[in-house]
Amino acid sequence: MTSRRDIERHVEDRAVGRCEYCRLHQSLQGTTFHVEHVIPRSRSGPSELDNLAWACPSCNLHKANRTDVIDPDTGDQVLLSNPRIDDWDGHFRWEDYRIVGQTPIGRATAAALELNHPRRVQIRHFLAHMDHAKPLLNQRYGSNWLVIPLIDELDTAISKLSDDQFFQNLRNLSMISRFHRHFRLIASGVREMSDLISSGSSPLNHLRNRHLGILTGTQARQLIVFGFPEGLHPEVESSLFQLTGRHPYVLQGVLEHLWEDQGELDRQAGYAGSEGISGLTEDLLPLAECLWSNRTRRVSATIRGVR
Ligand SMILES: [Zn+2]
Repeated sequence: MTSRRDIERHVEDRAVGRCEYCRLHQSLQGTTFHVEHVIPRSRSGPSELDNLAWACPSCNLHKANRTDVIDPDTGDQVLLSNPRIDDWDGHFRWEDYRIVGQTPIGRATAAALELNHPRRVQIRHFLAHMDHAKPLLNQRYGSNWLVIPLIDELDTAISKLSDDQFFQNLRNLSMISRFHRHFRLIASGVREMSDLISSGSSPLNHLRNRHLGILTGTQARQLIVFGFPEGLHPEVESSLFQLTGRHPYVLQGVLEHLWEDQGELDRQAGYAGSEGISGLTEDLLPLAECLWSNRTRRVSATIRGVR
């Protein structure tokens, strides 16, 4: 018997990970996409592959248990687009970052599922820019580039927003999206969320009020030992200080990146040991010898990659 998980995987694979209504890829969503019943269960829609679709939470929520909706141009009631029967390109087309209905079904579905809600258009816009920028950044800085956005006074910022969508998007970008390895979010002025943050983050999350200026060498080392109890090799430490200017947020961002990458570094080192240095990136090549000889020096190789 086919398990529920197998069916889910099949539906996801068939949709190539994209919502079958708005075409958003799951890689930018924090919440899991849903297997959706095209004809709802409440109307006796079967849980079979030809009645199931992969949908983002927003489309799923807007669709609810409807099967027909109003065409905004004519006021007629028409069927909602059925991804199992209707060809997406036959009913919709892209106009910049908007999805335009080309048929009564397309128009009615776009309106009912709010496919062009300003937030959704902004997300598409942003993703397109990131997709364009990534190869250019890779070319210029190597594939390990890192951006450390700082949210100053997070609690105050939250209190001035009407909802948490902004932070959800930011969280998705920095933790789940296909760009997550390149973003390391640092926030200050965090009181309300401190429990949440300290329970789910690295041991390096120890910046306090006294760390608001450029750190002294001693203060920077105090921060380092939270994540690397034996400290770092002097050469590594010096290149880290040089790279970050001992700026507390930048230093913390890079340290967290290194700390999380320790497993990856071990795997790279293992690969280098068995297969020679051909598997290492150009950034790491000059330091391949260090990679094999000393764990802390492996960190140095990554620091040079994170430029
Ligand atoms: Zn969707």
